[in-house]
Amino acid sequence: MTKLCAVITDESDIAKAVILGAEAFEFRLDMFSKIPDDISFVKQKGMTIVTCRSKEDVSRKELFEKALNSGADFVDIESDSKLRDSFPSRTICSYHDFEKTPNSSEIISIFDDLSKSGVPKAAFMVRGLADLKNISDASEVLKKSGRRYILLGMGEVGEVTRIRAEKLGSFVSYCSVSKTSAEGQLTLTQAQSLKNAIITGITGYPLSKTFSPAIHNAAFCASDINGRYVKLPASKDELCLLPEIMKAYDISGINVTIPHKQAVMPLLTSFDSSAEKIGAVNTVDKNLRGYNTDHLGIAAALDFAEPENKKVLLIGAGGAARAAAYYFEKSNAELFITNRTYEKAAALAKEFGANAVRIEDLQPEYSIILNASPVCLAKNIFTENCVVMDMVYPDSDFLKSARDAGVKTVLSGKTMLIAQAAESFKIWTKTVPDKNEMEKAFDGAEK
Ligand code: NAP
Repeated sequence: MTKLCAVITDESDIAKAVILGAEAFEFRLDMFSKIPDDISFVKQKGMTIVTCRSKEDVSRKELFEKALNSGADFVDIESDSKLRDSFPSRTICSYHDFEKTPNSSEIISIFDDLSKSGVPKAAFMVRGLADLKNISDASEVLKKSGRRYILLGMGEVGEVTRIRAEKLGSFVSYCSVSKTSAEGQLTLTQAQSLKNAIITGITGYPLSKTFSPAIHNAAFCASDINGRYVKLPASKDELCLLPEIMKAYDISGINVTIPHKQAVMPLLTSFDSSAEKIGAVNTVDKNLRGYNTDHLGIAAALDFAEPENKKVLLIGAGGAARAAAYYFEKSNAELFITNRTYEKAAALAKEFGANAVRIEDLQPEYSIILNASPVCLAKNIFTENCVVMDMVYPDSDFLKSARDAGVKTVLSGKTMLIAQAAESFKIWTKTVPDKNEMEKAFDGAEK
């Protein structure tokens, strides 16, 4: 059983952690504003660890001795410290790689070395699916040893390793009480509420700008569902690991964003009819069934503009543009598609009974213009009364150009984002999320 360990960075944290029911305590004495002479507080109901990342001198050794004599169960000592073998059977021997996660056999060698000096603890910077796979592969080997170990991923992407610490077999999972001591660390309250939580998330590359975690986590908070939505970035080479990662970390659903909406399809086992027709997937469930909820998001944003029989310009020919082409085809619009790579616009237009147009040939003649590319590809295409939407949010150069040209109705990708997210949430949880809370979270993320 993984112990949720409250990281104490100040004496005032102790009472809070006790009230919250912490199962273990790590006293980060180096983070205290001043280390008090009396450290009898290191004896608590529950396991206690004393850590002090300070200069290697005599006083450090004395502090560890004092901590153990005062009732601490363990001292945490770095693997490169001269003190690592000073307190046999009372040491957590720790290793941190703040840059990367090595491959799983290197992780195992690191653990073999750490085990010589006590309970081994290693934390690695996690940046994507390959790192998560190395951690879960290593955990499978470590579990077989039958010995205690502490294994975790650092950084925002490492969050899933903290939520699934039990599945990884980690003896301890560290949680903050007032001050976070590491990026990706959950608060004690969060960690307690996320035991046995369902996990959903998003893959794509890069994922730095997405508001999806904010709006999905707001939907979880507003519902009775114990869940967390995490970021799982995947480079093109890593995407193939998605099914394995979903299984290893027990992930119930994934959104797929730029640039993987089409590339993800060969990894899936079945599709709903719209994903099949669109030829792109933005939602995957735990059975690896692919769905497309983007077209429903576009409908939520643009139905008011009544595209039927109207001249519509779609900019882009990627996964999101495919959902838009499907929507405009169903709406009986007169659709024109342009794209950086003209050939892709031509191929998409052929599939959806539309017309392809080169960027340099564009004229200000459309009633609705939808940008499904991440950039502003054309500027002199606006008329005052056209409806302009960019899938990008919260604002964009494209929308600024439209406003500068006097366009009255200018929409960002906000409505689409929330509507497609709500549909994904329903697929995964069979529950209708609170869209008002999602909207508030979007507005909060924008600030
Ligand atoms: P995708 O499948 O990778 O397609 C990208 C499209 O953008 C392609 O047409 C590509 O043109 C074009 N493009 C990419 N980089 C470009 C550049 N530097 N200059 C010119 N054109 C470029 O991506 P996607 O999933 O369709 O996403 C497209 C955009 O829509 C993204 O910004 C995404 O965040 C946004 N989106 C928003 C929502 C929402 O809910 N608001 C939903 C889905 C998507 P080529 O064919 O020439 O490569």
